[in-house]
Amino acid sequence: MRYALVTGGARGIGREIALKLASEGNFVLINYRSNDEEANRTLHMIKEQGGQGALLKFDVANREETDRILGHWIEANKETPIQILVNNAGIRKDTLLIMMGSEDWDSVLDTNLGGFYNVTKHVISPMLVKKYGRVINIVSLSGLKGLPGQVNYSAAKAGTIGATKALAQEVGRRGVTVNAIAPGFIKTEMTQDLKEDELKKLIPLNRFGEAKEVAELVAFIASEKSSYITGEVININGGLYS
Ligand code: NAP
Repeated sequence: MRYALVTGGARGIGREIALKLASEGNFVLINYRSNDEEANRTLHMIKEQGGQGALLKFDVANREETDRILGHWIEANKETPIQILVNNAGIRKDTLLIMMGSEDWDSVLDTNLGGFYNVTKHVISPMLVKKYGRVINIVSLSGLKGLPGQVNYSAAKAGTIGATKALAQEVGRRGVTVNAIAPGFIKTEMTQDLKEDELKKLIPLNRFGEAKEVAELVAFIASEKSSYITGEVININGGLYS
């Protein structure tokens, strides 16, 4: 059994990733920021399907809180190091740059990109010691193509893509792979304000994706089967962009 940490694992894409990793025999730590009800529901779903997991509530954008709660968990569980890390927690606050307040910029950068640093910094060392690890960063089409109204989000996701490629080169010799997965439009609360009927016309597969479809890809990259893939950005977008 491996230990996996899924940030933002309470809802949406993160929940499906947590369920899938648990179904493959991993012990899944479900991180989330505030929604206790949905987090408990995810844990209940894992247990219902015969899997194992636990909740680990902290704000990935808050370095002090992450250091305290994740750092303490790692210190107290040295026998069971986290070997699969899915940096999935993310937010978007869309607006044109000319209207973008500093809070919209800071919170999106602090969560999507800062969260990568705050969490990965803790988890990577035990991986290097054990000479095994999978780091998977959930980025976005927005970080590759850039999308209007998402200068903050595109910058954060593009930054995470750069970090993915750099870190992959730092840790490859120690058996740790680092990859990014870039979804297009996936049906979750994050996209419920978007007009699927209009946007799907731009997508060759003519529909938004399901969170379960992203989870299948994550599970492959998280498994030993993906052993020769590192530093990659893998698109999952119905053919929208490549
Ligand atoms: P979602 O439904 O809004 O769920 C986001 C999850 O992240 C929630 O569990 C939330 O916790 C958690 N979270 C947010 N900020 C956090 C923080 N500071 N600390 C800890 N947890 C935090 O989002 P989603 O659509 O599943 O998106 C998941 C990831 O995929 C994000 O990185 C997003 O950028 C990326 N993505 C999504 C799409 C899409 O179309 N949906 C496309 C491309 C990329 P609470 O439940 O406590 O609020």
